[in-house]
Amino acid sequence: MEYIDMHAHMVSRTTDDYYQMALTGCVAVSEPAFWAGWDRTSADGFEDYFRQLTEFEPNRARQYGIRHYTWICLNPKEADNREMARAVLARIPKFLAHPNVLGIGEIGLNRNTRNELETFKDHVDLAAEHEQLILIHTPHLEDKYKGTRLTVETLQSREQIAPHRVLIDHAEEHTVKMILDAGFWTGITLYPNTKVSAQRAADIIEMHGAERICVASACDWGPSVPVAVPQFALEMRRRGHSEALIRRVVLENPAQFLRQSGKFELALKQPKPLEAATVN
Ligand SMILES: [Zn+2]
Repeated sequence: MEYIDMHAHMVSRTTDDYYQMALTGCVAVSEPAFWAGWDRTSADGFEDYFRQLTEFEPNRARQYGIRHYTWICLNPKEADNREMARAVLARIPKFLAHPNVLGIGEIGLNRNTRNELETFKDHVDLAAEHEQLILIHTPHLEDKYKGTRLTVETLQSREQIAPHRVLIDHAEEHTVKMILDAGFWTGITLYPNTKVSAQRAADIIEMHGAERICVASACDWGPSVPVAVPQFALEMRRRGHSEALIRRVVLENPAQFLRQSGKFELALKQPKPLEAATVN
């Protein structure tokens, strides 16, 4: 089955992972800019990272028949440093014209600090100014509900932000409804040990339906599974859900959201009906 991984940090994965993703039907990835696992020390460090996301990584993905798209920003983990944030934000506009850049992301909150919120607002204003899609990270564990609420309220306070052009990611059972009710898209990210499992993601789809929901691997440099999306599809199939519903969540929904960028191109093949076997 073809699928799009809406959220995959491929710079921290090997080519073997691209190979496994291609074997399991991945046709495109969308890679948000993220924390490297350690804090960068200068805006130059971010500039090199943005070049990796826009120049190097698309070529690596292409060798496996996978389209690579990306998002540019200073991530929430480093957003508390306002001086750094200002320096990085000044460098973002020149990358937005690149053919594989879909918008600003993944921005948002990590510990819900005042500085993080200010940096988040700066990114949202930048996205509005340049008419970019927005991809949003929400905090973990006990900070998630409050952080998601702050995120939704901040976006709603800006009338130039259209909710259908924003995806609020890392949603869980207690935040999905808040996000969808406000008109935003949402993402469920799958992790092997922490956060949402394939089973929990299937439960969420069963409770909320498939409208404006995407499921992604969020694979990065930590414990994570680059083929988590086909694992989710298998869980849905095991529960008896239709191929049409699975295809909607893992392929058609991400394509619908990403096409709003005006850059995302993917010709979706219509599944062929099974042909009767011929016996000679
Ligand atoms: Zn991420």
